[in-house]
Amino acid sequence: MSAPAIIVIVEAEASTRATLCGILEDTGYRVIGLKKGADALKTIRGSSFDAVITDIILPDVGGIEILELAKEINPDAAVIIMTDCASVETALDAVKHGAYAYFVKPVDPDEMKTAITNALKQQRLSLENKRLVESLQRSNRLLFEANKELKKANRLKSEFMAAMSHELRTPLNVIIGFSQLMLDGVPREINEEQRQCLEDILSSGEHLLNMVNDILDLSKVESGKMELRLRNVALTDVIESLRRTMMPLLTQRKQSLNVKLEKRLPLIHVDEARVRQVLLNLLSNASKFTPDGGKLEVRAAREGDQCQVSVIDNGIGIEKGDHERIFAAFDQVDNSVKREKGGTGLGLTIAKQIVEMHRGRIWVESEYGNGSSFMFTLPLAPKASHAQEKERVGSK
Ligand code: ADP
Repeated sequence: MSAPAIIVIVEAEASTRATLCGILEDTGYRVIGLKKGADALKTIRGSSFDAVITDIILPDVGGIEILELAKEINPDAAVIIMTDCASVETALDAVKHGAYAYFVKPVDPDEMKTAITNALKQQRLSLENKRLVESLQRSNRLLFEANKELKKANRLKSEFMAAMSHELRTPLNVIIGFSQLMLDGVPREINEEQRQCLEDILSSGEHLLNMVNDILDLSKVESGKMELRLRNVALTDVIESLRRTMMPLLTQRKQSLNVKLEKRLPLIHVDEARVRQVLLNLLSNASKFTPDGGKLEVRAAREGDQCQVSVIDNGIGIEKGDHERIFAAFDQVDNSVKREKGGTGLGLTIAKQIVEMHRGRIWVESEYGNGSSFMFTLPLAPKASHAQEKERVGSK
């Protein structure tokens, strides 16, 4: 059980003092009843207390002086002023200076008891609040420090990954270059068995290089080193060139690619190579996660002041619970197709980063077993450029 609250009562008139002391002691408080103001000042200076009840006019010291000292020593203490009719103005002034309440004499002891109980309750709540705020501030400081450390560790990790990927690219390019050269029969003609081996070396080298490039891109974005070369671009041209790039793979898998672009689609203001990278990733995924003979589609249309691009497939689809996490680094949906198809799980993360660097948004709508639609938005070029685009299309 907590110790009883200590209440100092300063009242010159003996019977009022005795009544108040009695009723508050009966309530369970520890009460110090004092006749003189000077004794009150001494008690307040010398011992702990939770509340003070004082007459405003005492023979030796003013009640306001007692109030001020009590508040100085214990700012949370509740101070209640007692006054007679003639000095109500002064009592009101005391309330403005921090007194909890004032009572006009004769004081009703029960009302005083209720006032003290409420004042102490309020005091407990405000102390509890203060403690909570302090503990929150402490936790915030700790979190801030931890966050700073995490950011530093993350930056070091990104820098390490960037440096490592960069270093890996050189030997990989040598492996790829020389196996290509040997496949082309430059040093000397090769037999079928050697061709098989070299093709395996080449495709593994290219696969590794793609992974290394993904890691390099991601670390560049994370360390803020990826810069966009923004210019006005015709999305139609990007999609057309991607269709040509994808054609051998699509033919091999007997998949169709339908392109539906809004007529007179305005130019977009983007980094062309990066947008190509996003589209290539979405299209490769669409093909990868759609069975042979499936249907792929790319759509683009103006949506307000942005262009919305959709890459749609009728493949295996993605469960609802996975829609968010596939955009997180290294996250892949755990299914046999994924294991079979390989991949780093970085493609969508990088696509999301690139789209967001363009102030766009990327999301997926999909139903497991019923295909997927990946959508993203990109900024349109300023209005003047649209007129140029119309001219460009018109003169074709
Ligand atoms: P990766 O393709 O290298 O695994 P991504 O980040 O591009 O990495 O994709 C993450 C995961 O999202 C994939 O492993 C796959 O589980 C899922 N996914 C992406 N695109 C599709 C799609 N079109 N259809 C079904 N699942 C997809």
